Amino acid sequence: DSMIRLEGVGKTYPDGTVAVHELDLDVARGEMVCLVGPSGCGKSTTLKMINRLIEPTTGRIWLDGQDVTDVDPVELRRGIGYVIQQIGLFPHQRIEQNVMTVPLLYGESKATARERAHELLATVGLDPEQYARRYPHELSGGQRQRVGVARALAANPPVLLMDEPFGAVDPVVRGRLQDEFRRLQAELGKTVVLVTHDIDEAIRMGDRVAVFAAGGRLAQYATPGELLARP
Ligand code: ADP
Ligand code: ADP
Repeated sequence: DSMIRLEGVGKTYPDGTVAVHELDLDVARGEMVCLVGPSGCGKSTTLKMINRLIEPTTGRIWLDGQDVTDVDPVELRRGIGYVIQQIGLFPHQRIEQNVMTVPLLYGESKATARERAHELLATVGLDPEQYARRYPHELSGGQRQRVGVARALAANPPVLLMDEPFGAVDPVVRGRLQDEFRRLQAELGKTVVLVTHDIDEAIRMGDRVAVFAAGGRLAQYATPGELLARP
């Protein structure tokens, strides 16, 4: 039961750079897959092809059985949360406002949107009583990443794409966020594709790990147990 499927997907940038080459990948419903590999091996490009921020030069991508090129990109992105390292909260808006933006866009009332924002903040481990009325600069880096996750969850998307979501956070906090997010993902049944250059993070978090090699090729696609058992 694939939620995301890539078949023969490639991306060559206009300057001739081959970022991704003949990539086959399937992600089951409710599965968490980590894309790992050195910088420049095509991980981010792969992620952005799934939500059509980048169009592939070859191959096809399906989301929940539908060819993504058959779906309006705006509609497509409603079903796909996107969390990046520089989450870009609006600095002059309170935390709750930052999280409410999406529900408000979808026409919810202000009261309902605020209530939903507070629920989501609690879900990601930020006490709304304490943090909802603060501004982004009044939070630590780890807390801001939590807000980014809350905002991505606001549209209740079945799929989350995450690009180095914990990259900017110090190592101790990062470990805590990794474990907490993993628990949350399983609990909410989200399908997640997470990009990282950190093999430990990939092994700690993924149901399966896609190891990329230079030139945008897939070297391995295996469970953490299988990867650890190999020499
Ligand atoms: P990763 O996420 O693994 O670091 P990327 O997907 O960002 O890798 O990049 C893959 C390759 O494509 C790299 O060689 C990168 O320099 C190149 N690349 C990325 N974006 C562009 C672009 N817009 N134009 C040309 N080359 C790009
Ligand atoms: P974390 O462990 O998430 O990285 P920090 O150690 O950076 O957190 O911050 C600890 C506490 O200090 C947090 O409760 C955070 O809200 C608060 N804090 C951090 N920066 C600021 C700031 N600029 N203004 C007010 N409170 C802050």
